[in-house]
Amino acid sequence: MQWKSNKLTYLKKQYADELYEFYEKGEANTILSILIKSFFGFSRIDIALNPDFRLSESEMLKLHFAVKELKNYKPVQYIIKKTDFLNVRLMVNESVLIPRPETEEMVSLIIDREKEEGLHVLDIGTGSGCIAIALAKNLKNPEVWGADISAGALSTASKNAFFNEVMIHLSEFDILKPTEPKALGEFDIIVSNPPYVTGSDKVLMKENVIRFEPHEALFVPGDDALLFYRAILYFAGEHLVKNGRIYFEVNELYGEKVTGLLSSQGYTSVELFKDINGKNRFVSGVKG
Ligand code: GLN
Repeated sequence: MQWKSNKLTYLKKQYADELYEFYEKGEANTILSILIKSFFGFSRIDIALNPDFRLSESEMLKLHFAVKELKNYKPVQYIIKKTDFLNVRLMVNESVLIPRPETEEMVSLIIDREKEEGLHVLDIGTGSGCIAIALAKNLKNPEVWGADISAGALSTASKNAFFNEVMIHLSEFDILKPTEPKALGEFDIIVSNPPYVTGSDKVLMKENVIRFEPHEALFVPGDDALLFYRAILYFAGEHLVKNGRIYFEVNELYGEKVTGLLSSQGYTSVELFKDINGKNRFVSGVKG
């Protein structure tokens, strides 16, 4: 490979120019900064303060191939294989959804509200384990379970729990199958960010999400937006204690439908919350 310069400032500028064809300018610069920080430990400020910093041949190659993946719309979190979620550092790969800021908001809400000691919490569709691990870390001595249909996701969640030094129980099961594991006991809290993207939403989604993120974590089969919520509430009938709390992340178009579902099943104090973008995004309720 022929390089014009091995100066990081030069390379960054050159790759940013190339990425403008694929991403909006601000996004291209942010992604590139994330990549450089993760690979070489240099933040934007570090680069500005060290304009003569140079990369070695192997470092340049690493950056070159990563930019190539970005041009293919691979999410930067999958390239650097990690992301942050509240005070949790997580390993991510293509068998798990990249945790979203909205989901952080839901977990913060749970942490703000649930102050009791020793709560039993179940996260259904745990993926990377982001919700389960953040709750295990931030509630008061909770006992946390994470369930998922995907063995790849559970293996990632298990490593993430280990690296974050928290104990969570992981269980492989399909919430849509009527024979859910009896071994799971009763919970004080059930939380879930289930697949909720419908076929009609799919056309509005970004290329990098559709091409790389696990479809079984995103798309609801058969366009039935409420499928998972119904299944989880059915499960909660047996496995959530009286006065136990449900927390759901929801598709912005179905917030009212999900609150309606909870109320129709006798849940009280049913609330619908908006995310930071003003979109209906979370629902909570107390089992009556
Ligand atoms: N909020 C995610 C997205 O828009 C979807 C998450 C989900 O389906 N639970 O990509």
